[in-house]
Amino acid sequence: MALQIYNTLTRRKEPFVPLEAGKVKMYVCGVTVYDYCHLGHGRTYVVWDTVRRYLLSRGYAVMYVQNFTDVDDKILRRAQQEGATMEAVAEKYIAAYFEDMDRLNVLRADSYPRATQTMPEIAALIDQLTSIGYAYSAAGDVYYSVRRFAEYGKLSGKHLAELEAGASERLQDEELARKQDPFDFALWKGAKPGESAWESPWGAGRPGWHIECSAMVKKSLGETIDIHAGGEDLQFPHHENEIAQSEAVTGKPLARYWMHNAFLNVVNQAGTEEKMSKSLGNFKTLRDLFEDFPPMALRLFLLKTSYRNPIAFSLEALKGSEQNWREMEEVLRLAPWLAQQGQSVAGDILFDPWVRRFNEAMDDDFNTAAALAELIALGKQLAGRYHAAIHGTPLADPVRFAREWCTFAFLCDILGLKAGEPEVRPSALPEAEIEAQIALRRQARAERNWMEADRIRKQLLDQGIVLIDHKDKPTTWRHADL
Ligand code: AMP
Ligand code: ZN
Repeated sequence: MALQIYNTLTRRKEPFVPLEAGKVKMYVCGVTVYDYCHLGHGRTYVVWDTVRRYLLSRGYAVMYVQNFTDVDDKILRRAQQEGATMEAVAEKYIAAYFEDMDRLNVLRADSYPRATQTMPEIAALIDQLTSIGYAYSAAGDVYYSVRRFAEYGKLSGKHLAELEAGASERLQDEELARKQDPFDFALWKGAKPGESAWESPWGAGRPGWHIECSAMVKKSLGETIDIHAGGEDLQFPHHENEIAQSEAVTGKPLARYWMHNAFLNVVNQAGTEEKMSKSLGNFKTLRDLFEDFPPMALRLFLLKTSYRNPIAFSLEALKGSEQNWREMEEVLRLAPWLAQQGQSVAGDILFDPWVRRFNEAMDDDFNTAAALAELIALGKQLAGRYHAAIHGTPLADPVRFAREWCTFAFLCDILGLKAGEPEVRPSALPEAEIEAQIALRRQARAERNWMEADRIRKQLLDQGIVLIDHKDKPTTWRHADL
Protein backbone atom coordinates (compact mmCIF):
# COMPACT_ATOMS: atom_id res chain seq x y z
CA MET A 1 0.00 0.00 0.00
CA ALA A 2 1.22 3.46 -0.79
CA LEU A 3 1.87 6.08 1.83
CA GLN A 4 -1.32 7.63 3.20
CA ILE A 5 -1.32 11.02 4.86
CA TYR A 6 -4.09 12.56 6.93
CA ASN A 7 -4.77 15.91 5.34
CA THR A 8 -6.29 18.48 7.70
CA LEU A 9 -7.70 20.26 4.66
CA THR A 10 -9.88 17.33 3.56
CA ARG A 11 -10.14 15.69 7.01
CA ARG A 12 -9.23 12.27 5.69
CA LYS A 13 -6.30 10.09 4.83
CA GLU A 14 -5.21 10.43 1.23
CA PRO A 15 -2.57 8.67 -0.85
CA PHE A 16 0.54 10.80 -0.92
CA VAL A 17 1.19 12.16 -4.40
CA PRO A 18 3.75 14.94 -4.54
CA LEU A 19 3.50 17.71 -7.08
CA GLU A 20 6.66 16.56 -8.80
CA ALA A 21 7.40 12.83 -8.84
CA GLY A 22 10.12 11.83 -6.38
CA LYS A 23 10.37 15.27 -4.78
CA VAL A 24 8.81 16.66 -1.63
CA LYS A 25 8.70 20.31 -0.69
CA MET A 26 8.00 20.57 3.00
CA TYR A 27 7.60 23.65 5.20
CA VAL A 28 7.31 23.51 8.97
CA CYS A 29 6.43 26.57 11.04
CA GLY A 30 9.31 27.19 13.39
CA VAL A 31 9.69 28.56 16.89
CA THR A 32 9.31 32.10 18.06
CA VAL A 33 12.76 32.67 19.47
CA TYR A 34 12.32 34.28 22.86
CA ASP A 35 13.02 31.41 25.24
CA TYR A 36 14.37 27.86 25.57
CA CYS A 37 12.40 25.04 23.98
CA HIS A 38 10.32 22.74 26.18
CA LEU A 39 9.40 19.13 25.56
CA GLY A 40 6.25 20.21 23.68
CA HIS A 41 8.41 21.96 21.09
CA GLY A 42 10.57 18.85 21.13
CA ARG A 43 7.51 16.82 20.16
CA THR A 44 6.66 19.02 17.21
CA TYR A 45 10.14 19.04 15.71
CA VAL A 46 10.86 15.36 16.39
CA VAL A 47 7.58 14.46 14.67
CA TRP A 48 8.33 16.45 11.51
CA ASP A 49 11.92 15.29 11.49
CA THR A 50 10.68 11.70 11.57
CA VAL A 51 8.24 12.35 8.73
CA ARG A 52 11.09 13.80 6.74
CA ARG A 53 13.40 10.86 7.54
CA TYR A 54 10.74 8.36 6.51
CA LEU A 55 10.12 10.17 3.20
CA LEU A 56 13.89 10.11 2.60
CA SER A 57 13.96 6.38 3.36
CA ARG A 58 11.25 5.87 0.73
CA GLY A 59 13.49 7.51 -1.83
CA TYR A 60 12.03 11.01 -1.99
CA ALA A 61 14.31 14.00 -2.35
CA VAL A 62 12.94 16.14 0.47
CA MET A 63 13.46 19.88 0.55
CA TYR A 64 12.74 20.79 4.19
CA VAL A 65 12.40 24.42 5.21
CA GLN A 66 11.65 25.70 8.71
CA ASN A 67 11.53 29.33 9.70
CA PHE A 68 12.46 31.23 12.80
CA THR A 69 9.96 33.84 13.87
CA ASP A 70 12.39 36.52 14.97
CA VAL A 71 10.02 39.50 15.01
CA ASP A 72 7.29 39.26 17.60
CA ASP A 73 5.81 40.98 20.64
CA LYS A 74 7.16 38.26 22.93
CA ILE A 75 10.71 38.78 21.66
CA LEU A 76 10.33 42.52 22.09
CA ARG A 77 9.15 42.05 25.65
CA ARG A 78 12.01 39.68 26.45
CA ALA A 79 14.50 42.15 24.97
CA GLN A 80 13.14 44.88 27.22
CA GLN A 81 13.40 42.57 30.26
CA GLU A 82 16.96 41.52 29.45
CA GLY A 83 18.04 45.02 28.43
CA ALA A 84 19.10 43.57 25.08
CA THR A 85 18.15 44.15 21.48
CA MET A 86 15.54 42.00 19.75
CA GLU A 87 18.32 40.67 17.48
CA ALA A 88 20.47 39.59 20.44
CA VAL A 89 17.54 37.78 22.06
CA ALA A 90 16.73 36.01 18.78
CA GLU A 91 20.35 34.94 18.21
CA LYS A 92 20.64 33.55 21.72
CA TYR A 93 17.55 31.37 21.44
CA ILE A 94 18.27 30.28 17.87
CA ALA A 95 21.64 28.97 19.08
CA ALA A 96 19.88 27.23 21.99
CA TYR A 97 17.33 25.73 19.58
CA PHE A 98 20.11 24.15 17.53
CA GLU A 99 21.87 22.78 20.61
CA ASP A 100 18.67 21.15 21.86
CA MET A 101 17.48 19.80 18.52
CA ASP A 102 20.93 18.44 17.63
CA ARG A 103 20.82 16.44 20.84
CA LEU A 104 17.41 15.07 19.85
CA ASN A 105 19.04 14.10 16.54
CA VAL A 106 16.71 16.35 14.54
CA LEU A 107 18.27 16.80 11.11
CA ARG A 108 19.12 20.36 10.14
CA ALA A 109 16.65 21.92 7.70
CA ASP A 110 17.77 22.76 4.18
CA SER A 111 17.18 26.37 5.10
CA TYR A 112 16.02 28.44 8.05
CA PRO A 113 14.51 31.65 6.73
CA ARG A 114 13.91 34.43 9.22
CA ALA A 115 11.37 37.19 9.11
CA THR A 116 14.09 39.81 9.50
CA GLN A 117 15.79 38.48 6.38
CA THR A 118 12.61 38.37 4.31
CA MET A 119 11.41 41.96 4.66
CA PRO A 120 11.45 42.89 0.94
CA GLU A 121 9.43 39.79 0.02
CA ILE A 122 7.00 40.40 2.88
CA ALA A 123 6.47 43.99 1.75
CA ALA A 124 6.02 42.86 -1.88
CA LEU A 125 3.34 40.37 -0.87
CA ILE A 126 1.46 42.96 1.19
CA ASP A 127 1.72 45.34 -1.73
CA GLN A 128 0.23 42.74 -4.08
CA LEU A 129 -2.61 42.01 -1.66
CA THR A 130 -3.36 45.70 -1.44
CA SER A 131 -3.32 46.19 -5.19
CA ILE A 132 -5.76 43.32 -5.84
CA GLY A 133 -8.10 44.64 -3.20
CA TYR A 134 -7.56 42.02 -0.49
CA ALA A 135 -5.85 44.39 1.89
CA TYR A 136 -6.13 48.01 2.95
CA SER A 137 -3.97 50.37 4.93
CA ALA A 138 -5.26 52.23 7.95
CA ALA A 139 -3.26 54.72 10.00
CA GLY A 140 0.11 53.03 9.50
CA ASP A 141 -1.27 49.45 9.73
CA VAL A 142 -2.29 47.20 6.86
CA TYR A 143 -5.12 44.69 7.27
CA TYR A 144 -6.30 41.69 5.29
CA SER A 145 -10.00 41.80 4.34
CA VAL A 146 -11.06 38.37 5.44
CA ARG A 147 -14.49 38.59 3.81
CA ARG A 148 -12.91 39.07 0.40
CA PHE A 149 -11.52 35.52 0.49
CA ALA A 150 -14.49 33.29 -0.27
CA GLU A 151 -12.81 30.12 0.98
CA TYR A 152 -11.87 31.53 4.37
CA GLY A 153 -12.31 28.79 6.98
CA LYS A 154 -11.70 25.87 4.64
CA LEU A 155 -8.74 24.53 6.63
CA SER A 156 -10.01 24.88 10.18
CA GLY A 157 -13.69 24.48 9.43
CA LYS A 158 -14.28 27.73 11.34
CA HIS A 159 -16.63 29.93 9.40
CA LEU A 160 -17.11 33.59 9.96
CA ALA A 161 -20.75 33.22 10.85
CA GLU A 162 -19.87 30.96 13.79
CA LEU A 163 -16.96 33.09 14.87
CA GLU A 164 -19.04 36.23 15.02
CA ALA A 165 -20.26 35.76 18.57
CA GLY A 166 -17.24 36.21 20.83
CA ALA A 167 -15.10 38.07 18.35
CA SER A 168 -15.58 41.63 19.47
CA GLU A 169 -14.50 40.91 23.05
CA ARG A 170 -11.13 39.68 21.90
CA LEU A 171 -10.22 42.78 20.03
CA GLN A 172 -8.51 45.78 21.42
CA ASP A 173 -10.61 48.87 20.81
CA GLU A 174 -7.82 50.77 19.12
CA GLU A 175 -7.24 48.10 16.53
CA LEU A 176 -10.92 47.55 16.07
CA ALA A 177 -11.39 51.18 15.19
CA ARG A 178 -8.91 50.86 12.34
CA LYS A 179 -10.37 47.67 10.93
CA GLN A 180 -13.14 47.64 8.38
CA ASP A 181 -14.29 44.34 9.84
CA PRO A 182 -13.50 42.78 13.23
CA PHE A 183 -12.20 39.60 11.50
CA ASP A 184 -9.59 41.41 9.46
CA PHE A 185 -6.06 40.69 10.64
CA ALA A 186 -2.88 42.72 10.51
CA LEU A 187 -0.37 42.23 7.70
CA TRP A 188 1.70 45.20 8.83
CA LYS A 189 1.72 46.97 12.19
CA GLY A 190 2.81 50.57 12.43
CA ALA A 191 5.66 51.03 14.92
CA LYS A 192 4.96 52.26 18.41
CA PRO A 193 7.64 54.46 19.99
CA GLY A 194 10.74 52.52 21.06
CA GLU A 195 9.97 49.41 19.00
CA SER A 196 12.24 47.88 16.36
CA ALA A 197 10.86 48.95 13.01
CA TRP A 198 11.41 48.50 9.29
CA GLU A 199 10.69 51.07 6.61
CA SER A 200 7.83 50.33 4.24
CA PRO A 201 5.48 52.09 1.84
CA TRP A 202 3.00 52.24 4.76
CA GLY A 203 5.48 53.81 7.16
CA ALA A 204 7.84 52.32 9.73
CA GLY A 205 6.59 49.15 11.34
CA ARG A 206 6.83 45.39 11.34
CA PRO A 207 5.03 42.51 9.68
CA GLY A 208 2.30 40.37 11.19
CA TRP A 209 3.19 36.76 11.97
CA HIS A 210 1.02 35.15 9.29
CA ILE A 211 2.39 37.13 6.35
CA GLU A 212 5.94 36.20 7.39
CA CYS A 213 5.26 32.53 6.71
CA SER A 214 3.41 33.18 3.43
CA ALA A 215 6.39 35.18 2.18
CA MET A 216 8.98 32.68 3.41
CA VAL A 217 7.20 29.68 1.87
CA LYS A 218 6.98 31.47 -1.47
CA LYS A 219 10.57 32.64 -1.40
CA SER A 220 12.11 29.34 -0.35
CA LEU A 221 9.86 26.71 -1.93
CA GLY A 222 7.52 28.35 -4.44
CA GLU A 223 3.79 28.96 -4.84
CA THR A 224 2.54 25.44 -4.13
CA ILE A 225 4.32 23.05 -1.80
CA ASP A 226 3.63 19.43 -0.90
CA ILE A 227 3.49 19.43 2.90
CA HIS A 228 2.87 22.33 5.26
CA ALA A 229 3.08 21.30 8.88
CA GLY A 230 2.99 22.51 12.45
CA GLY A 231 1.38 22.02 15.85
CA GLU A 232 -2.41 21.79 15.91
CA ASP A 233 -2.81 25.25 17.43
CA LEU A 234 -1.49 26.66 14.16
CA GLN A 235 -4.51 25.45 12.15
CA PHE A 236 -6.39 28.54 13.18
CA PRO A 237 -5.76 31.33 12.70
CA HIS A 238 -2.15 30.99 11.52
CA HIS A 239 -2.49 28.49 8.68
CA GLU A 240 -5.97 29.64 7.75
CA ASN A 241 -4.55 33.14 7.31
CA GLU A 242 -1.51 31.89 5.40
CA ILE A 243 -3.90 30.24 2.94
CA ALA A 244 -5.98 33.40 2.62
CA GLN A 245 -2.90 35.51 1.92
CA SER A 246 -1.01 33.21 -0.42
CA GLU A 247 -3.93 31.84 -2.38
CA ALA A 248 -5.50 35.27 -2.92
CA VAL A 249 -2.30 36.28 -4.71
CA THR A 250 -1.42 33.11 -6.64
CA GLY A 251 -4.83 31.57 -7.23
CA LYS A 252 -3.14 28.21 -6.50
CA PRO A 253 -3.25 25.93 -3.47
CA LEU A 254 -0.55 26.88 -0.99
CA ALA A 255 -0.02 23.27 0.12
CA ARG A 256 -1.31 19.92 -1.08
CA TYR A 257 -1.18 18.33 2.37
CA TRP A 258 -1.70 20.19 5.63
CA MET A 259 -0.46 18.22 8.59
CA HIS A 260 -0.85 19.01 12.29
CA ASN A 261 0.53 17.28 15.33
CA ALA A 262 -1.30 17.01 18.63
CA PHE A 263 0.11 18.48 21.82
CA LEU A 264 2.26 17.17 24.56
CA ASN A 265 0.00 17.74 27.56
CA VAL A 266 0.46 17.90 31.28
CA VAL A 267 -2.18 16.73 33.73
CA ASN A 268 -3.09 19.60 36.05
CA GLN A 269 -4.20 19.41 39.66
CA ALA A 270 -7.83 19.08 38.66
CA GLY A 271 -6.85 15.97 36.69
CA THR A 272 -7.39 17.43 33.24
CA GLU A 273 -4.82 17.56 30.49
CA GLU A 274 -3.46 20.92 29.43
CA LYS A 275 -0.98 21.78 26.72
CA MET A 276 2.59 22.10 27.99
CA SER A 277 3.28 25.80 27.55
CA LYS A 278 5.26 28.74 28.77
CA SER A 279 2.18 30.68 29.70
CA LEU A 280 0.71 27.92 31.90
CA GLY A 281 4.08 27.46 33.62
CA ASN A 282 3.73 23.66 33.39
CA PHE A 283 6.71 23.09 31.14
CA LYS A 284 10.01 21.23 31.35
CA THR A 285 12.72 22.60 29.12
CA LEU A 286 14.61 20.15 26.98
CA ARG A 287 17.87 21.19 28.55
CA ASP A 288 16.57 20.44 32.04
CA LEU A 289 15.34 17.03 30.93
CA PHE A 290 18.70 16.24 29.29
CA GLU A 291 20.20 16.42 32.79
CA ASP A 292 18.16 13.40 33.83
CA PHE A 293 17.42 11.47 30.63
CA PRO A 294 19.39 10.46 27.56
CA PRO A 295 18.08 12.61 24.67
CA MET A 296 17.19 9.46 22.75
CA ALA A 297 14.94 8.30 25.58
CA LEU A 298 13.00 11.56 25.11
CA ARG A 299 12.86 11.05 21.36
CA LEU A 300 11.61 7.51 21.84
CA PHE A 301 9.01 8.73 24.35
CA LEU A 302 7.73 11.29 21.85
CA LEU A 303 7.49 8.72 19.03
CA LYS A 304 5.70 6.10 21.13
CA THR A 305 2.48 7.98 20.40
CA SER A 306 1.41 8.69 16.85
CA TYR A 307 1.60 12.32 15.96
CA ARG A 308 -2.16 13.03 15.84
CA ASN A 309 -2.81 11.72 19.36
CA PRO A 310 -2.10 13.76 22.46
CA ILE A 311 0.64 12.64 24.84
CA ALA A 312 0.27 13.00 28.60
CA PHE A 313 3.61 13.89 30.10
CA SER A 314 4.80 12.04 33.19
CA LEU A 315 8.19 11.22 34.64
CA GLU A 316 7.11 7.58 35.06
CA ALA A 317 6.33 7.29 31.35
CA LEU A 318 9.67 8.90 30.55
CA LYS A 319 11.44 6.37 32.77
CA GLY A 320 9.71 3.56 30.90
CA SER A 321 10.99 4.99 27.63
CA GLU A 322 14.44 5.31 29.11
CA GLN A 323 14.36 1.60 29.92
CA ASN A 324 13.30 0.80 26.34
CA TRP A 325 16.05 3.00 25.00
CA ARG A 326 18.79 1.47 27.16
CA GLU A 327 17.89 -1.97 25.80
CA MET A 328 17.84 -0.73 22.24
CA GLU A 329 21.08 1.15 22.66
CA GLU A 330 22.83 -1.93 24.01
CA VAL A 331 21.83 -3.76 20.84
CA LEU A 332 22.85 -0.86 18.58
CA ARG A 333 26.29 -1.01 20.15
CA LEU A 334 26.85 -4.63 19.17
CA ALA A 335 28.65 -3.86 15.91
CA PRO A 336 32.14 -4.51 17.35
CA TRP A 337 30.96 -7.74 18.99
CA LEU A 338 29.43 -8.91 15.71
CA ALA A 339 32.64 -8.08 13.91
CA GLN A 340 34.49 -10.13 16.50
CA GLN A 341 32.18 -13.01 15.65
CA GLY A 342 33.27 -12.60 12.04
CA GLN A 343 29.92 -11.18 10.94
CA SER A 344 29.41 -8.34 8.52
CA VAL A 345 27.60 -5.34 9.98
CA ALA A 346 27.64 -3.24 6.86
CA GLY A 347 24.95 -4.02 4.50
CA ASP A 348 22.43 -6.76 4.12
CA ILE A 349 19.16 -6.09 5.80
CA LEU A 350 16.24 -8.43 5.99
CA PHE A 351 13.26 -7.03 4.18
CA ASP A 352 10.83 -9.39 5.71
CA PRO A 353 8.99 -9.38 8.00
CA TRP A 354 10.39 -6.53 10.10
CA VAL A 355 10.88 -3.91 7.42
CA ARG A 356 7.58 -4.78 5.81
CA ARG A 357 5.68 -4.34 9.08
CA PHE A 358 7.61 -1.19 9.94
CA ASN A 359 6.83 0.32 6.55
CA GLU A 360 3.18 -0.72 6.77
CA ALA A 361 2.90 1.15 10.05
CA MET A 362 4.68 4.22 8.74
CA ASP A 363 2.73 4.17 5.47
CA ASP A 364 -0.42 4.48 7.54
CA ASP A 365 -0.06 8.20 8.21
CA PHE A 366 3.30 7.77 9.97
CA ASN A 367 2.08 5.49 12.72
CA THR A 368 5.25 5.67 14.77
CA ALA A 369 3.53 3.97 17.71
CA ALA A 370 3.15 0.73 15.74
CA ALA A 371 6.51 1.09 13.97
CA LEU A 372 8.33 1.61 17.23
CA ALA A 373 6.55 -1.34 18.84
CA GLU A 374 8.00 -3.53 16.06
CA LEU A 375 11.42 -2.11 16.65
CA ILE A 376 11.28 -2.56 20.42
CA ALA A 377 10.23 -6.19 19.88
CA LEU A 378 13.07 -6.83 17.44
CA GLY A 379 15.53 -5.21 19.83
CA LYS A 380 14.33 -7.45 22.68
CA GLN A 381 14.79 -10.56 20.56
CA LEU A 382 18.29 -9.56 19.57
CA ALA A 383 19.22 -8.59 23.12
CA GLY A 384 17.95 -11.95 24.39
CA ARG A 385 20.06 -13.89 21.89
CA TYR A 386 23.09 -11.73 22.57
CA HIS A 387 22.83 -12.23 26.32
CA ALA A 388 22.47 -15.94 25.83
CA ALA A 389 25.53 -15.89 23.58
CA ILE A 390 27.74 -14.15 26.08
CA HIS A 391 26.47 -16.52 28.77
CA GLY A 392 27.59 -19.53 26.82
CA THR A 393 24.76 -20.39 24.41
CA PRO A 394 26.24 -19.63 21.01
CA LEU A 395 24.09 -17.95 18.37
CA ALA A 396 22.12 -20.58 16.48
CA ASP A 397 22.42 -18.67 13.20
CA PRO A 398 25.05 -15.92 13.40
CA VAL A 399 24.52 -14.81 9.79
CA ARG A 400 20.83 -14.34 10.40
CA PHE A 401 21.52 -12.55 13.66
CA ALA A 402 23.85 -10.13 11.88
CA ARG A 403 21.29 -9.43 9.15
CA GLU A 404 18.57 -8.83 11.70
CA TRP A 405 20.92 -6.54 13.57
CA CYS A 406 21.54 -4.55 10.37
CA THR A 407 17.77 -4.33 9.89
CA PHE A 408 17.39 -3.09 13.44
CA ALA A 409 20.08 -0.42 13.02
CA PHE A 410 18.59 0.64 9.68
CA LEU A 411 15.09 1.06 11.11
CA CYS A 412 16.36 2.86 14.22
CA ASP A 413 18.04 5.32 11.91
CA ILE A 414 14.77 6.04 10.10
CA LEU A 415 13.23 7.03 13.43
CA GLY A 416 16.33 9.08 14.21
CA LEU A 417 17.31 6.88 17.14
CA LYS A 418 21.05 6.62 17.38
CA ALA A 419 23.39 5.26 20.02
CA GLY A 420 25.48 7.87 21.76
CA GLU A 421 29.10 7.55 22.67
CA PRO A 422 29.44 4.63 25.07
CA GLU A 423 29.41 5.84 28.64
CA VAL A 424 31.90 3.19 29.70
CA ARG A 425 35.41 4.29 28.85
CA PRO A 426 38.18 1.76 28.09
CA SER A 427 39.03 0.09 31.34
CA ALA A 428 42.30 0.78 33.06
CA LEU A 429 41.97 -2.48 34.95
CA PRO A 430 45.17 -4.58 34.67
CA GLU A 431 44.73 -7.82 32.75
CA ALA A 432 45.94 -9.87 35.71
CA GLU A 433 43.16 -8.38 37.83
CA ILE A 434 40.56 -9.17 35.17
CA GLU A 435 41.83 -12.75 34.95
CA ALA A 436 41.75 -13.03 38.75
CA GLN A 437 38.12 -11.89 38.80
CA ILE A 438 37.28 -14.36 36.05
CA ALA A 439 38.84 -17.13 38.12
CA LEU A 440 36.81 -16.09 41.16
CA ARG A 441 33.69 -16.11 39.06
CA ARG A 442 34.53 -19.56 37.65
CA GLN A 443 34.76 -20.79 41.21
CA ALA A 444 31.45 -19.18 42.15
CA ARG A 445 29.82 -20.83 39.15
CA ALA A 446 31.32 -24.18 40.05
CA GLU A 447 29.69 -23.74 43.46
CA ARG A 448 26.45 -22.80 41.68
CA ASN A 449 26.62 -19.43 43.41
CA TRP A 450 24.97 -17.61 40.51
CA MET A 451 24.43 -14.44 42.49
CA GLU A 452 28.11 -14.05 43.17
CA ALA A 453 28.97 -14.94 39.57
CA ASP A 454 26.56 -12.27 38.32
CA ARG A 455 27.87 -9.74 40.79
CA ILE A 456 31.41 -10.23 39.46
CA ARG A 457 30.19 -9.91 35.85
CA LYS A 458 28.34 -6.71 36.71
CA GLN A 459 31.27 -5.29 38.65
CA LEU A 460 33.62 -5.88 35.71
CA LEU A 461 31.07 -4.36 33.32
CA ASP A 462 30.92 -1.24 35.47
CA GLN A 463 34.69 -1.04 34.96
CA GLY A 464 34.33 -1.40 31.19
CA ILE A 465 34.98 -5.12 30.84
CA VAL A 466 32.50 -7.43 29.13
CA LEU A 467 32.77 -11.16 29.85
CA ILE A 468 32.02 -13.67 27.11
CA ASP A 469 31.23 -17.21 28.20
CA HIS A 470 31.78 -20.07 25.79
CA LYS A 471 30.47 -23.61 25.76
CA ASP A 472 33.75 -25.34 25.20
CA LYS A 473 36.49 -23.00 26.35
CA PRO A 474 37.16 -20.66 29.27
CA THR A 475 35.47 -17.29 29.57
CA THR A 476 37.09 -14.50 27.56
CA TRP A 477 36.68 -10.77 27.89
CA ARG A 478 36.75 -7.57 25.88
CA HIS A 479 36.60 -3.83 26.46
CA ALA A 480 33.01 -2.62 26.51
CA ASP A 481 33.37 -0.08 23.72
CA LEU A 482 35.56 -2.06 21.37
P1 AMP B 1 5.85 28.63 19.29
O1 AMP B 1 7.29 28.97 19.44
O2 AMP B 1 5.05 28.79 20.53
O3 AMP B 1 5.26 29.34 18.09
O4 AMP B 1 5.72 27.09 18.98
C1 AMP B 1 6.42 26.46 17.95
C2 AMP B 1 5.77 25.17 17.60
O5 AMP B 1 5.73 24.30 18.74
C3 AMP B 1 4.33 25.29 17.10
O6 AMP B 1 4.16 24.43 15.98
C4 AMP B 1 3.51 24.81 18.27
O7 AMP B 1 2.31 24.21 17.85
C5 AMP B 1 4.43 23.78 18.88
N1 AMP B 1 4.14 23.53 20.31
C6 AMP B 1 4.12 24.42 21.33
N2 AMP B 1 3.74 23.82 22.48
C7 AMP B 1 3.52 22.51 22.19
C8 AMP B 1 3.11 21.36 22.95
N3 AMP B 1 2.84 21.43 24.25
N4 AMP B 1 3.00 20.18 22.30
C9 AMP B 1 3.27 20.08 20.98
N5 AMP B 1 3.66 21.13 20.22
C10 AMP B 1 3.78 22.32 20.80
ZN1 ZN C 1 3.95 29.63 9.94
